[in-house]
Amino acid sequence: QLPPFDYQPKPYNGPLADEIFAKRKKFLGPSLFHYYQKPINIVEGKMQYLYDESGRRYLDAFAGIVTVSAGHCHPEILDAILEQSKLLQHATTIYLHHAIADFAEALTSKMPGNLKVVYFVNSGSEANELAMLMARLYTGNLGLISLRNAYHGGSSSTIGLTALNTWKYPIPEGEIHHVMNPNPYRGIFGSDAKSYAKDVQDHIDYGTSGKVAGFIAETIQGVGGAVELAPGYLKLVYDIVHKAGGVCIADEVQTGFGRTGSHYWGFEMQGVVPDIVTMAKGIGNGLPLGAVVTTPEIASVLAEKIQFNTFGGNPVCSAGGLAVLRVLDKEKRQSHCADVGSHLIGRLRSLMQRHEIIGDVRGRGLMLGIELVTDRKEKTPAKAETAVLFEKLRELGVLVGKGGLNGNVFRIKPPMCFTKDDADFVVDALDYAITKL
Ligand code: PMP
Repeated sequence: QLPPFDYQPKPYNGPLADEIFAKRKKFLGPSLFHYYQKPINIVEGKMQYLYDESGRRYLDAFAGIVTVSAGHCHPEILDAILEQSKLLQHATTIYLHHAIADFAEALTSKMPGNLKVVYFVNSGSEANELAMLMARLYTGNLGLISLRNAYHGGSSSTIGLTALNTWKYPIPEGEIHHVMNPNPYRGIFGSDAKSYAKDVQDHIDYGTSGKVAGFIAETIQGVGGAVELAPGYLKLVYDIVHKAGGVCIADEVQTGFGRTGSHYWGFEMQGVVPDIVTMAKGIGNGLPLGAVVTTPEIASVLAEKIQFNTFGGNPVCSAGGLAVLRVLDKEKRQSHCADVGSHLIGRLRSLMQRHEIIGDVRGRGLMLGIELVTDRKEKTPAKAETAVLFEKLRELGVLVGKGGLNGNVFRIKPPMCFTKDDADFVVDALDYAITKL
């Protein structure tokens, strides 16, 4: 039984899963991937729960790919969106509107150092596109460095930064270096940040003119399977990159806004201040919204040209985004994530003692990964078993994410209102499913 939750979903009389799925296959193209053998028709969302066409409730442990930060249809955010929608839905930045300015002020107040200028876009890919452009214009260099196992977007440029085989297409993108991933569980140097940082220096020394435009990384790799970079790595690498004339970009699309519990921004875990920060997903609680924050100096390279997109900073998204920041603070979601996350990680680690298939439990706050292996010594990915358990969890009412190079990592990244009871339910369901398997 899922933990009790006081909400009655509305009756649903719309088309059913099979009909929608048939239409989707016909009109939305074959590459649109979907979770579950029998897709779920989600008709309502309320905080950390989702409801299907039959009114069945599911615990959402993946938050629409780490996007619903405050909770599905959070009432205060909904009010802000509706109020703004009734007044003005769209204007563009060629006119003045207070919502974008208020949101920019609130967002930059969350940033350290001189990160005081923001550009609004509509997604994480667009944010990283803009960051790439800024880095190249500002430094006058072309080369960009990203980590293997990274995900930075699916647009034609950002797919070059992404280094996961399922997302790779043969699209040329000028001079991108994928350096060794400082993955403490699978990386050949374990947690030795210095050795991984040397690989960055080697790439610069052997593979470039000695100058680069920049370096980009997630502090906890999301799509890559909740891989936290070896401690101390970013400090060493930021130094190397700055010496080579480049700027350092932190991709906070998944790690921002307190989800990791220990810090508001992921980069703070490693004690660095980036030159450019990109964000999306949780910033809008589901609204299409992204942002790039940088220093006035870097932003000045765009001053002579027009940097513009039609929807970026749209009044509705800005009003919604501002409400998200306010709600996460008011409800103390960062410390809540720390609290629930440490409870969950503790319980998962005890589960690990009983189930050999769990090779690693990692992450922070409500950004956790459970890597499944067929034997712990060789760390052979338990791909088929993960697929079976994934379906079983759904049957039990828990929706988790999948990730990692081999799809053998469960990602637990729920809305940040997820409770300890919810966490216990996930652990019990996983325990039951593994025992059955
Ligand atoms: N960066 C990271 C870390 C991401 O996880 C994602 C999306 N999974 C992106 C960028 C791209 O965001 P979007 O899908 O909004 O373009």
